[in-house]
Amino acid sequence: MKRKLVWLFDLDNTLHDAGHAIFPAINRNMNALIARVLEAEAKPSHAEAVNEMRVAYWQRYGATLLGMMRHHAIRSEDFLRDAHEFSDLSQMIRAECGTAYLLRRLPGHKILLTNAPAGYSRDVVRHLGLHKHFADHVPIESMVVHRQLRPKPSPWLLRRLLASRGLTPGRCVLVEDSLENLKSARALGIRTVWLTGYTRGTRHRPAFVDVKVKSLNHLARQRRKLGAG
Ligand SMILES: [Mg+2]
Repeated sequence: MKRKLVWLFDLDNTLHDAGHAIFPAINRNMNALIARVLEAEAKPSHAEAVNEMRVAYWQRYGATLLGMMRHHAIRSEDFLRDAHEFSDLSQMIRAECGTAYLLRRLPGHKILLTNAPAGYSRDVVRHLGLHKHFADHVPIESMVVHRQLRPKPSPWLLRRLLASRGLTPGRCVLVEDSLENLKSARALGIRTVWLTGYTRGTRHRPAFVDVKVKSLNHLARQRRKLGAG
């Protein structure tokens, strides 16, 4: 009997369009927080300095949060709470039509694997009616390996995820918009789907991407390429 696939789903810009309103709001929140930190350190805190720092940490560590923790002794729970404060989250969520139906067309166990915090990611999947499809939810708070926060694309995180659930990498498929995350998963033998619709990724399919699709709808139609029902 063929063993079923295990789907690892990213959340932001994979299951919904975070670029529409949520990411701009998160960036504004992070900028306000960084400005407060710079002011407290008596450093220049004008918009340009703040933006530069946010982007620099994101590029260097893969997450602004990690830079803020390392260089400014910010507690992750404070940062995540402030960054994900929205006046009306449900009004800000945009997603492909019929996302729940499309997930149902991908048979197998599904794990939500997101660098976003638990409360926010739970609210988004609930709003989209997707929570029933995910047997497992790995938010950033759970991405601690050897007492260090190790969000995607950390190979430590992925190895621990596989080991703790007894998963063989070849049975797993990571569905993501981020090429860095897909590359790191592929290096461990996890199969990879690059979803480009929300980020308008126009690049040619790199060798570490098994399947490139615009939308979940296209993925549902191409699922046999991955050996899924
Ligand atoms: Mg994403």
